[in-house]
Amino acid sequence: MFKALVVEKDAESGKTSAAVREIGLEDLPEGEVTVAVEYSTLNYKDGLCIGPGGGLVRTYPHVPGIDFAGTVERSEDARYKPGDKVVLTGWRVGEAHWGGYAQKARVKADWLVPLPEGLDTRAAMAVGTAGFTAMLAVMALEDHGVSPAKGPVLVTGAAGGVGSVATAVLAHLGYEVAAVTGRPEQEDYLRGLGAARIVPRAELAETVKRPLESESWAGCVDAVGGAMLARVLGQISYGGSVAAVGLAGGAQLPATVIPFLLRGVNLLGIDSVMQPFDNRLRAWRRVARDLPMDKLDAMVVPATLEDLPQLGADILEGQVKGRVVVDMA
Ligand code: NDP
Repeated sequence: MFKALVVEKDAESGKTSAAVREIGLEDLPEGEVTVAVEYSTLNYKDGLCIGPGGGLVRTYPHVPGIDFAGTVERSEDARYKPGDKVVLTGWRVGEAHWGGYAQKARVKADWLVPLPEGLDTRAAMAVGTAGFTAMLAVMALEDHGVSPAKGPVLVTGAAGGVGSVATAVLAHLGYEVAAVTGRPEQEDYLRGLGAARIVPRAELAETVKRPLESESWAGCVDAVGGAMLARVLGQISYGGSVAAVGLAGGAQLPATVIPFLLRGVNLLGIDSVMQPFDNRLRAWRRVARDLPMDKLDAMVVPATLEDLPQLGADILEGQVKGRVVVDMA
């Protein structure tokens, strides 16, 4: 028997409740690889899956946790053997399939990535889906010609998970990073990650009045979307790019096409869930190389399975800073 965070739904009221329970190997879903989970983490989607479900969870009882890292215990797939260190993000694990909030998980071999050299399982989950996605965004900007020589870059939602990792990686790569935050009390934290400038959220909160503003940023990693993304598009320099990662500020895009037509600005979509294996491997290797471990440590908020019901509610209210790392021991 082992511990898992199990979410149940009351048939009459439709309300969900989450609690740590003992379950057995026979309870786990089918899959080729059984992993002893060492660490997991907390994302906005996890907040939904621990709580109301948000249309993501198909059946109950459910074990959430959209990412995890651990050691292979049993494998029916030639690519993995007992003792291998692995990491998993995406593929709707923790939503449509049981996830990482348990001491053991059983998954498809195709969903796993071997842990790259230089990262242990705890560091991998300090990075997690949020950090992995931030790296995909940085890679997309680079692939479209953004470089430190082209000028300063912007990170929105900077004190959140995606924003924290994006800030630290970009600063490490030599970019002048401007960090947008609605939490002025996080200024020291963001400067510690390498932000050269803090931009108060309110400065970018207004909707677009002029389709083009002065050319301020060579690129942007945007975790916020909505009106802020629309404003940012009008501030990108000629030929620059914005990697659209998230929707913390809204799913609408009240923008004009003028920045695309007159400045050749690129809007790059970033999806971490269905990302092909080769690019996953490339991103995890880049994380191991380009994310300073001392900066990563500064982002970590340690937690246990028992803390998750409260933390799930907190992240839905935008009250989580940095990267929560859940220790399964
Ligand atoms: P967090 O909740 O940790 O961070 C989001 C940050 O956005 C907050 O910390 C806050 O930053 C800022 N923010 C929150 N609400 C608002 C608002 N109303 N207006 C402006 N800014 C706001 O989430 P993550 O970093 O884990 O994820 C960020 C986004 O990326 C989410 O929307 C998530 O769903 C998405 N995502 C997408 C993925 C993909 O594959 N495309 C993968 C992973 C995440 P501050 O306090 O600094 O202002």
